[in-house]
Amino acid sequence: MTGAAGGAVFEVSGLTKVYRVGETEVTALRGVELTLHAGELAVMLGASGSGKSTLLNILGGLDSATAGRVLYRGHDLVDADERALTRYRREHVGFVFQFYNLISSLTARENVAIVTEISREPMAPEQALGLVGLDARLDHFPAQLSGGEQQRVAIARAIAKQPAVLLCDEPTGALDSATGIQVLEALARVNRSLGTTTVIITHNAVISEIADRVIAIHDGRVARTEANPRPRPAASLHW
Ligand code: ADP
Ligand code: MG
Repeated sequence: MTGAAGGAVFEVSGLTKVYRVGETEVTALRGVELTLHAGELAVMLGASGSGKSTLLNILGGLDSATAGRVLYRGHDLVDADERALTRYRREHVGFVFQFYNLISSLTARENVAIVTEISREPMAPEQALGLVGLDARLDHFPAQLSGGEQQRVAIARAIAKQPAVLLCDEPTGALDSATGIQVLEALARVNRSLGTTTVIITHNAVISEIADRVIAIHDGRVARTEANPRPRPAASLHW
């Protein structure tokens, strides 16, 4: 595994995204320039509507670009066909969203196992759930878990296939600060122990203190990036 000072995982240049809705066009991204490094924990900050989700979805192969280049380990995702993108998502990318989308009739362990059963080199569901601090909740159903615990099951599900990249869109958006902090601790632990390149979108500036690097998005562009030489443990955050 590569450490926080690893090479480029993503190299994005001139990335543009225009949504067409009927007769109108909405420009969501207007020339994004960005490099993401192997093993880093990046926090992406920006106002609502600035283009964060659009950028994350394109990085994850969930949405297509209008123009520009998105290299993942040297391979251009913009040129990739649907088949290649599906394989890319399945083998390389884990996603965590604001809402957990767990299957309510399955336990925590089973929610993770449905992914490990179709993965090439999965870790055991128990190991993934242990990494996010849920060793004592393996056989609980989603309804028996708090929101923060459910989100940590979703993180375990995303990382159990050992993806190179973990993309998180407002993972604490539906949580109070105490449980949100536990979710961030779980994400930071995964990043440090597995070396998973991790991007966390938030509009909460406090969360940027746990990052190796903060990426500020403004009006469809990367306004600036700032390295953080001393990331703070998530447990020390307050908001
Ligand atoms: P953020 O995640 O920073 O809030 P988004 O990437 O969701 O921003 O949105 C950026 C811009 O693109 C906004 O103006 C939004 O309304 C528009 N947009 C996002 N998704 C779509 C879509 N599927 N169709 C049309 N416009 C969209
Ligand atoms: Mg968004």
